[in-house]
Amino acid sequence: MVLVLISAAALTGATRSPAQTVAVVAEPAYYRPVVVDGFTFPVARSNWLSVIELAEDWNDPRFRLIDGRWQLVGRHQGNDIVAEEGTPVTSMTAGTVEAVGWTFYSGTRVGVRGVDGKYYFYAHLSRVDPSMGVGVAVEPGDVLGLVGNTGYGPPGREDEFPPHLHVGIEGPGGWENPYPLLARLYRASVDATTRAEGRLAELAREGDAAGFDRLAARLYAGME
Ligand SMILES: [Zn+2]
Repeated sequence: MVLVLISAAALTGATRSPAQTVAVVAEPAYYRPVVVDGFTFPVARSNWLSVIELAEDWNDPRFRLIDGRWQLVGRHQGNDIVAEEGTPVTSMTAGTVEAVGWTFYSGTRVGVRGVDGKYYFYAHLSRVDPSMGVGVAVEPGDVLGLVGNTGYGPPGREDEFPPHLHVGIEGPGGWENPYPLLARLYRASVDATTRAEGRLAELAREGDAAGFDRLAARLYAGME
């Protein structure tokens, strides 16, 4: 990783040893969750290389090659978010973990019963966070696991498709289109973090290292 460093002395005009530097471009890190009305976007974004692709694919027809012919096997009962393998997957909402483990199509999945009564379903994970299990209470932004490409086979099967998170939301009337909510949460996260990055740049220009550190600590979580 490459950091752009500038000496604190240059920022403040004071004379300091070269060892005392602050990062003008903060270290690569995941943003802390941006929570809107109790919800947050379920894939962690970073200030470094955040490969996230969100396009509406709810209800898209799904075909599989069966006996040499492409056959309609169903409709997409959720929305996919493309992200790098290993990117943290976070709970969109407060609730209680209701399901953890393998299913044929979903691979390693975590299901959360939200406080609103709906079921929030996260599939194809490469791993589940060790703190997660059935009955565990979660808050929006809690890490459930990591993005992967598991599923479409017996336990352990992966690489049948590119890494992504499948998000499903099931209400009283069945599976719902999660895209409008996901799009709103993604936009809110980008807007809030862009504003904060702008303020960080101002603080750096002003030479306010303490203010920079305080805001950076509020904006970013660690890399772990
Ligand atoms: Zn999907």
